[in-house]
Amino acid sequence: MAEKKYVYAFEDAHGLGRELLGGKGAGLAEMTHIGVRIPEGFTITTEVCALFYESGKKLPEYIVEQIFEAVKVIEKKTGKVFGGSHNPLLVSVRSGARASMPGMMDTILNLGLNDETVAALAKETGNERFAMDSFRRFILMFTNIAKGHSREEMDKMLADLKEKNGYKLDTEVTTEQLKDLVTRYKAYYKKTFGEDFPSDPKEQLLVAVSAVFKSWDNPRANVYRMMNNIPYSWGTAVNVQSMAFGNKGETSGTGVAFSRDPATGENKISAEYLPNAQGEDVVAGIRTPLHIDELKARMPKVYDEFVKTIKIMENHYRDMQDMEFTVEDGVLYFLQTRNGKRTPAAALKIACDLVDEGLINEKEAVCRIDAMSFDKLLLPGFDKQVLKETTPIAKGLAAGPGAGTGAIAFTAEEAEARKKAGEKVILVRAETSPEDIVGMVAAQGILTMRGGMTSHAAVVARGMGKCCVCGCSAAIVDEHARTVTIGDKVYTDKDVISVDGNTGNVYFGSIKTVEPDLTAGYFGRLMSWVDEYRDLKVRTNADTPLDAKQAKIFGAQGIGLCRTEHMFFAKDRIFSMRKMILADTVEEREAALAEIEPMQQSDFESLYEVMGDFNVNVRLLDPPLHEFLPQEEGLIEELALATKKTVQQVKDRIAELHEANPMMGHRGCRLAVTYPEICRMQTSAIIKAAINVSKKTGKLVEPEIMVPLILEEKELKFVKNIICQVADELIATSGLNMKYHVGTMIEIPRAALLSDEIAKEAEFFSFGTNDLTQMTFGFSRDDAGKFLPAYYENKILEEDPFKTLDQNGVGKLITLSVKLGRATRPNLHIGVCGETGGDPKSIEFYHKVGLDYVSCSPFRVPVARLAAAQAAILFPRKK
Ligand code: PEP
Ligand code: MG
Repeated sequence: MAEKKYVYAFEDAHGLGRELLGGKGAGLAEMTHIGVRIPEGFTITTEVCALFYESGKKLPEYIVEQIFEAVKVIEKKTGKVFGGSHNPLLVSVRSGARASMPGMMDTILNLGLNDETVAALAKETGNERFAMDSFRRFILMFTNIAKGHSREEMDKMLADLKEKNGYKLDTEVTTEQLKDLVTRYKAYYKKTFGEDFPSDPKEQLLVAVSAVFKSWDNPRANVYRMMNNIPYSWGTAVNVQSMAFGNKGETSGTGVAFSRDPATGENKISAEYLPNAQGEDVVAGIRTPLHIDELKARMPKVYDEFVKTIKIMENHYRDMQDMEFTVEDGVLYFLQTRNGKRTPAAALKIACDLVDEGLINEKEAVCRIDAMSFDKLLLPGFDKQVLKETTPIAKGLAAGPGAGTGAIAFTAEEAEARKKAGEKVILVRAETSPEDIVGMVAAQGILTMRGGMTSHAAVVARGMGKCCVCGCSAAIVDEHARTVTIGDKVYTDKDVISVDGNTGNVYFGSIKTVEPDLTAGYFGRLMSWVDEYRDLKVRTNADTPLDAKQAKIFGAQGIGLCRTEHMFFAKDRIFSMRKMILADTVEEREAALAEIEPMQQSDFESLYEVMGDFNVNVRLLDPPLHEFLPQEEGLIEELALATKKTVQQVKDRIAELHEANPMMGHRGCRLAVTYPEICRMQTSAIIKAAINVSKKTGKLVEPEIMVPLILEEKELKFVKNIICQVADELIATSGLNMKYHVGTMIEIPRAALLSDEIAKEAEFFSFGTNDLTQMTFGFSRDDAGKFLPAYYENKILEEDPFKTLDQNGVGKLITLSVKLGRATRPNLHIGVCGETGGDPKSIEFYHKVGLDYVSCSPFRVPVARLAAAQAAILFPRKK
């Protein structure tokens, strides 16, 4: 055990990779390698993080030994002594995970100071004020960061001191006052922790290193990891580095720099500089940094070196860099560099510019764009500056993209009416039902108290590209009282709120939105590369011509899922549907369906026309019938009148259709088995529409008819017979040589297991991962949102399996199904149309497993195209 190396000096670590060194450690090793001046130091690897937890949150002895060996190496190189009474070595301790994680532990600076070393530092620098200032900062940071105690009281001591003396700046505090502050800080430490502030630098170092490892499991870090798909098992590394002092006087200072503008992507250094200060002053907002011209004016030679080094680093990393630097007595040190975070718009420009500058090729440019945030480019968002200054009143799930501001409307009708009257509204519901669709269209955004990422509100909102926050349990909606209560504040229809579908935040009041800028042409350029490299086709889930048109603009290559039930939501249609459900005989049912058929047919005609040469896949009716029935008394009475039934009869039928577990109930193709006339009507509408459009355009439409929720071959054969009878007869009469395809969704584990048999009847498969996840996990789609958070907290699950495919379990079923299906029918056309079809990580899996296409909501189409290209570039398929 003891021989294995867990601690690496920067100069020995080059090439070991960020898995082991973390991002910061790998960066420091790389900078050392290319000759950038950085303070000496070492990295404790990410492997130690796991060992730390395995040892009961303690550093094993053999690692402690390696740490102090590495300290000795720094001592040798710098000629300084850790804890020495002459020329003392002071270090910084920083976390450094594989992916940059702003939610983790902050930096501890000036570690190694005690009464003895501070005196030596004062003597050797001839600057006692600087030494005392460093000491008081260290005690504060150690208490706050390493010991996890609030800095409030200690900040107050300094603030009071300044106020009492009429000082504006920290730099005005005198040496004597700093000394006094150090004494008071130490006393405060003793009072708080019941022990003296540790004076042994070795002890200080071990406490600080342990604190970094502990911070890997702090709530902030856990939340950040969840949001960004960072596995817990990765662990963090720790970097220990000798201090460079930016607070030594007027020829010292500190700053941050981006090699290009992170907001716009402009190829111009964007940097700030603060003379006579340490980085902490900037981060804590204690002092406002100045423009980098300040450095140029004060020390032009240092500035020239600064610009030159930035170029060296950017050329080396071939990407925009985000750097921290310090100038100590006129000597420039870089403390870290990493690929800089940037807005999606800046990412596009930088990628295209780097191609033009010959630094990267097109494939690399495609892989440089973060697919997760790509859709944010397509929608207006809240003004970032305003958001910075505004505190949210509640937070839910970021279910539909974009931003919306408006007054609260409590029902769909109200939202529609107020929109017509020229008002902007946010539809606020406890949860949404199909009847709310008109209100969702009318609203600027949707907020629901209940429901997860695949709830009705979320799916419909994403389809429309409408901003939606759902599952916001802090917002208690009382639809009767027409109030929303959040905490102790009650909001009514007079109140304006703003919902941010990108973050899930809800704000009080109106927030300015800004339109995306897609005009610069970078978007089109990048997308042309994307389309050149991807293997997966990208279709869309669309039920209306409007959605289909939007998706086509975004590059959809057909419709992968048309959920026909959504076509019944309009008021005039839902009524016919209700009549059909209430009918007592087949004849009555057929009569009600006959009212619906022309409407369905005309919808399909529009979809075929919009899609042109691309295929349209129509799924037969899927949800349980009771979802279409009214709940409100007035609507029930209206229905009773129209169907010549008593109110009681209607209520009885509603009760009869009630199911304890509708998601596992009378839905999907089970409806076609029990009510074949529904399947006949839908097939007729699909085929007649295709015949009409084929005749009109002179191009044969090739419809795809998809049967949902299939269990096995016999069931599919039963439904397919109904479809083929109707379709073949209509086509024969039309005189056209029109083809159509019948296939199935694979949504039930049993269907996945029996895919070889099902493929005998199915011309295509489409994985419905919403249901397949639900049925594989046994988690109800509607209710999982209530208990999944506990699974994340306890690290049983790391991400929402309804959003990102569970590759271990559900993915295994998909892999098997593809293999079995293609063994029977080698040219079986296979896609996916569940929510995971628009998720970048899942798309990578679908590429690898050999699917033909993914289908997702219109606003995810560009994301899916990008993710498909990235997968194809990183994991080329065998041709
Ligand atoms: C699915 O289950 O993944 C699917 C696409 O169908 P729906 O969400 O309509 O059940
Ligand atoms: Mg389904």
